[in-house]
Amino acid sequence: MASRLLRIGLIPGDGIGREVIPAGRRILEALPSSLGLKFEFTDLDAGFETFQKTGAALPERTVDVLKNGCDGALFGAVSSPTKAVKGYSSPIVALRKKLDLYANVRPVKTVATAASPIDMVIVRENTEDLYVKEERTLEDPAMGGVYAEAIKRISTRASLRIATMAGEIALRRQKLRESGFASIHKSPLVTITHKSNVLSQTDGLFRTCAKEALAASRFVDGGVAVEEQIVDSMVYKLFRQPGSYDVIVAPNLYGDILSDGAAALVGSLGLVPSANVGEGFAIGEPCHGSAPDIEGKGVANPIATLRSTALMLEFLGEEQAAAKIYTAVDANLEEAKLLSPDLGGKATTEEVVSDILKRL
Ligand code: ATP
Ligand code: MG
Repeated sequence: MASRLLRIGLIPGDGIGREVIPAGRRILEALPSSLGLKFEFTDLDAGFETFQKTGAALPERTVDVLKNGCDGALFGAVSSPTKAVKGYSSPIVALRKKLDLYANVRPVKTVATAASPIDMVIVRENTEDLYVKEERTLEDPAMGGVYAEAIKRISTRASLRIATMAGEIALRRQKLRESGFASIHKSPLVTITHKSNVLSQTDGLFRTCAKEALAASRFVDGGVAVEEQIVDSMVYKLFRQPGSYDVIVAPNLYGDILSDGAAALVGSLGLVPSANVGEGFAIGEPCHGSAPDIEGKGVANPIATLRSTALMLEFLGEEQAAAKIYTAVDANLEEAKLLSPDLGGKATTEEVVSDILKRL
């Protein structure tokens, strides 16, 4: 069988990023050879410590290697200084821009045996909306003095492509289910989130574009059902009946809020993966930060990173390899013998990783 070489950049960053990213590398190296995958790893710098050493939070070499010498990457976490530090800004935000990683994909899933099981993916547009950061502060006596305003920008192009990605993810999840991957859902569903009853032009455009993209024949033929929901009622239902969602697509700000809210449903930040995705490139990134409170203790939960590694593989077209990792992680959680302290267990990062590697 011909083998495929995947070149993966490893960017541990700060804090527990350095303790969990090696787990991502190890699980890739432990994948069965029958999958025909080979990996080549490059260690790359970014983060606050890199900034303090070199004056750049995101060195040029890191961007160059990712652009020209990698198929995908794993990003750990970077610490955010409590006070603004001159010249420092988040390297992951810069990376998303430089590599045009226009989607943030966040699966939120419990084990199937949970009391109320959840299995959803939030697909968040990541380039526009209020995040264009065009704000200004003005003054007008008629407004009562100083006031401020911000631009919310929604484009046809960005809305069509994010909804298309949501449709592709829904189809892929269905394929995984049909190949025996356990799930609470029987058929694919995409929920479009907006507030077009108030913002008829911006969110109205998002809604129209998302519907248009999801009406493409490959989604219709693939049985992808489409529904829409106003964001406030979505929050309510997300907390009352989270099991009813499969794929959610949202503009930037709502997506940000929904994905943190949904992450709260599964018990620990240490479980929740994400991916930053563009055309033909994906960076897996655990949702948690650098967790300074547990740094250096060897107890960080590696599962968010292992799942982010699998998610990266999905976007590189390696669903089978991804499914193997997800299955091994779920088996560890279902057995619940070797759990890290955030899940009420006593196991170290190393013990959790080796248990999951054994299950591959
Ligand atoms: P940052 O500014 O880098 O985001 P933070 O102080 O906000 O740092 P987070 O990493 O966001 O910390 O974590 C929030 C809480 O969740 C902390 O108490 C942390 O210990 C816990 N936590 C986060 N990730 C993990 C993990 N992988 N394993 C165990 N606990 C975690
Ligand atoms: Mg944080």
